[in-house]
Amino acid sequence: MQLTPNAHIQSVAEAAAQRSHNEPEFLQAMHEVLDTLVPVLAEHPEFIEAAVLERLVEPERQILFRVPWLDDQNRVRVNRGFRVQFNSALGPFKGGLRFHSSVNLSVVKFLGFEQIFKNALTRQRIGGAKGGSDFDPHGKSDEEVMRFCQSFMTELYRYIGDQTDVPAGDIGVGGREIGYLFGQYRRLTGRHESGVLTGKGKGWGGAEVRTEATGYGAVFFAQEMLKRTGEDIDGRRAVVSGSGNVAIYAIEKVSQLGGTAVTASDSSGYVVDEQGIDVELLKQIKEVERGRISDYAERKPGARFVSGGSVWDVPAELAFPCATQNELDERGARALLDGGVRVVAEGANMPTTPEAVTLLQQSGILFGPGKAANSGGVATSALEMSQNAARDRWDFDHSEARLQAIMRDVHDASYEASERYGRPGDYVLGANSAGFVTVAQAMIEQGLV
Ligand code: NDP
Repeated sequence: MQLTPNAHIQSVAEAAAQRSHNEPEFLQAMHEVLDTLVPVLAEHPEFIEAAVLERLVEPERQILFRVPWLDDQNRVRVNRGFRVQFNSALGPFKGGLRFHSSVNLSVVKFLGFEQIFKNALTRQRIGGAKGGSDFDPHGKSDEEVMRFCQSFMTELYRYIGDQTDVPAGDIGVGGREIGYLFGQYRRLTGRHESGVLTGKGKGWGGAEVRTEATGYGAVFFAQEMLKRTGEDIDGRRAVVSGSGNVAIYAIEKVSQLGGTAVTASDSSGYVVDEQGIDVELLKQIKEVERGRISDYAERKPGARFVSGGSVWDVPAELAFPCATQNELDERGARALLDGGVRVVAEGANMPTTPEAVTLLQQSGILFGPGKAANSGGVATSALEMSQNAARDRWDFDHSEARLQAIMRDVHDASYEASERYGRPGDYVLGANSAGFVTVAQAMIEQGLV
């Protein structure tokens, strides 16, 4: 006899928890999806029959490897490399590489699992994967970063390709790292295979708007949520966490749409600038000089630096967590609500703890989960793949218009699924179920693989 959807989900989750008991981030991401799927499985008993969930929580392939490299003192250093190829039912594996000291298998699996549903939501026909290393580029010279990237690619190149697996950037991996990785891939294979990585330099296959896409996309998603309720970003105050790729371009887009983003942060603390963050100064400090966020307060009259502390204590109507996982907890969510927040849109992956998500949703504000709200980055990566395949290049305005249209579609698909499954406006349920149904149907149609 077939289990009820509830009992089925529980049994899959328990089996996964036993198998992956030392992977807390992965289990958190898995629960976040599975716990919303009861109404979907009730409508689709064939997904239970075909053991779709059991297959989905197990990656198709996991690659772990040694990355030896020489530092500037000629000492041998050794890091660990990862690539988790989670699901390729919809297309080649696709997902970023993260270089950060906190990277381990659990973190890579959580990110790869989320990527499956996010990529499905974009309707760009890409599978889900993630990778990275516990290497930390902070404080390393360009030469050290280059030697590390070359060693990393010397192992990874066997497993990637424009039709198999297409990595991109994430925390600690930006244009510089993608350049070094691509150079080594080209050297090892003798092929200028543009489509093997995205986020490339614009002179050699990189797409316009890829750098801006995740941050811009998160703000477009917030704009779509507000539009449904007859509201707008114009004239509203925003708090943004992080000061990396996603945060910088979220701040820029808020300001272009008439809002005022008053904060930015890094792992040392945050700055508040009541006049609105000066994006050009922030780019200079973070993208060019690779400095700290406190440098901003030293150089911008009227701005203040708060060491440690929480950016969520600053009152605002819009909040964009754009740094890292679990950075917005229940206390932070309470502070945001006390400060009058109306919208939280996740630029980062899983930045809000489950307790904080529950609190924010129960309070009736608009909550945009990362799977939907930050999908503009990977969607624009897919557009980069299309341009590479066609040996074509689109201009900035066309690329941004495509991004905006995709974010509108992602919003509408998420909202419609939330209605279909009985909780209109619950974008967590909507994004999870819309992404899941697309992948599950493809898995069934392709047989037991
Ligand atoms: P960056 O490396 O460019 O920036 C990360 C920012 O977050 C930095 O300001 C960093 O500060 C801060 N940060 C990272 N880890 C921590 C931590 N443990 N505690 C406090 N602050 C931290 O990364 P991205 O902007 O690319 O990525 C940010 C988030 O967005 C991640 O969750 C990523 O997975 C997600 N994302 C990124 C996409 C992209 O296209 N880049 C696409 C979709 C999602 P510090 O320098 O001090 O470490």
